[in-house]
Amino acid sequence: PYAGMAGAEIFEKRKAVLGPSLFHYYQKPLNIVEGKMQYLYDEHGKRYLDCFGGIVTVSCGHCHQDIVNAVVEQTKLLQHTTTIYLHHAIVEFAEALTSKMPGNLKVVYFVNSGTEANELAMLMARLYSGNLSMIALRNAYHGGSAGTIGLTGLQTWKYPIPQGEIHHVMNPDPYRGTFGSDAAAYAKEVEEHITYGSSGRVAGFIAETFQGVGGAVELAPGYLKLAYDIVRKAGGVCIADEVQSGFGRTGSHYWGFQTQDVIPDIVTMAKGIGNGLPLGAVVTTPEIASVLAQRIQFNTFGGNPVCSAGGLAVLNVLDKEKRQAHCADVGSHLVERLKSLQQKHERDVRGRGLMLGVELVTDRKEKTPAKAETAVLFEKLKVGKGGLHGNVFRIKPPMCFSKDDADFLVEAMDYAMSGI
Ligand code: PMP
Repeated sequence: PYAGMAGAEIFEKRKAVLGPSLFHYYQKPLNIVEGKMQYLYDEHGKRYLDCFGGIVTVSCGHCHQDIVNAVVEQTKLLQHTTTIYLHHAIVEFAEALTSKMPGNLKVVYFVNSGTEANELAMLMARLYSGNLSMIALRNAYHGGSAGTIGLTGLQTWKYPIPQGEIHHVMNPDPYRGTFGSDAAAYAKEVEEHITYGSSGRVAGFIAETFQGVGGAVELAPGYLKLAYDIVRKAGGVCIADEVQSGFGRTGSHYWGFQTQDVIPDIVTMAKGIGNGLPLGAVVTTPEIASVLAQRIQFNTFGGNPVCSAGGLAVLNVLDKEKRQAHCADVGSHLVERLKSLQQKHERDVRGRGLMLGVELVTDRKEKTPAKAETAVLFEKLKVGKGGLHGNVFRIKPPMCFSKDDADFLVEAMDYAMSGI
């Protein structure tokens, strides 16, 4: 049994010693003390089915034995030196990671988070192109650092500081977007931004293929291909933010961008790459990577032996356990069941694999966000949410989530919704 500090005490203490910008879920936040694959346990030993995976971070499962072993073994042997010395773990991991990439995406910079990955990607785009203007999507989330909040397209996260030379184009959101699923109309708007809002030349374009924080939005089919063409013609490089959608989670493909049949110039990743370890990566072509060699690029913890050993173990587990196919299988079952509930309760069900969203509205035609109802359900079900109006349940569990777990979730949702 748990013998640590009680949740109520932690809650009080963290208000005193941690920054006031921290937010928490639920009126009485959960004190989670243990995790095992897709389950979490609170201080009283109560079990929860984890449908949010530490915000899409726990790819293989909480405390997956192979990853724990890899981390523990490496920690016992050597924890850290930095890349000024040689170590086998970083090259083994980089080789395994690049073997998963298409085209000429063959060079890795390791970092410690998604924000850092996107900072580095933006820097490379600007240096490589010789241009400054970046294009990002409205409703995107790319990080919270001084540089990346410029890329993020949601006011909730934007502090009032200079946002850099960044243009936000219309979001190709099939559900709420002005042009519905008309990819060509959205792409035309990218072109117009370049024509009217910049010198005609841009540094780069960044997009998540499935917006996570923005509320599980899958971009209109065919959009990235059109947008990439336009951006490349204007001298820019194309960046895919795979922080949430990579590693087979979408089921149909290993990377989110593959669902749009494109090959980016730079791919950023974090979260699921480490199953909980602080780890991020930027993968690009040798030509683009070389722009950073004009000065020194150094990251003390990037690619450290422990995270590299853990990251390699993650890739191996995902392959060995055939998680991509599993996400496709369980995901389609879950979507089907969620859609059958759609007749009963007003909502939009969307996504692929285990990267799903359920958006609650008060009426289907007007699509009025069901803010109050979502808030009640959020407390009852203890699920994860997102979107500008906070009315989207984000379902992105550890990839070991089973069909039985999916059924349990749907039944819990149905039960909770029927009561309000
Ligand atoms: N990109 C995306 C798509 C994300 O969802 C996030 C985190 N929510 C980030 C970047 C930033 O990652 P981190 O919090 O690791 O800095």
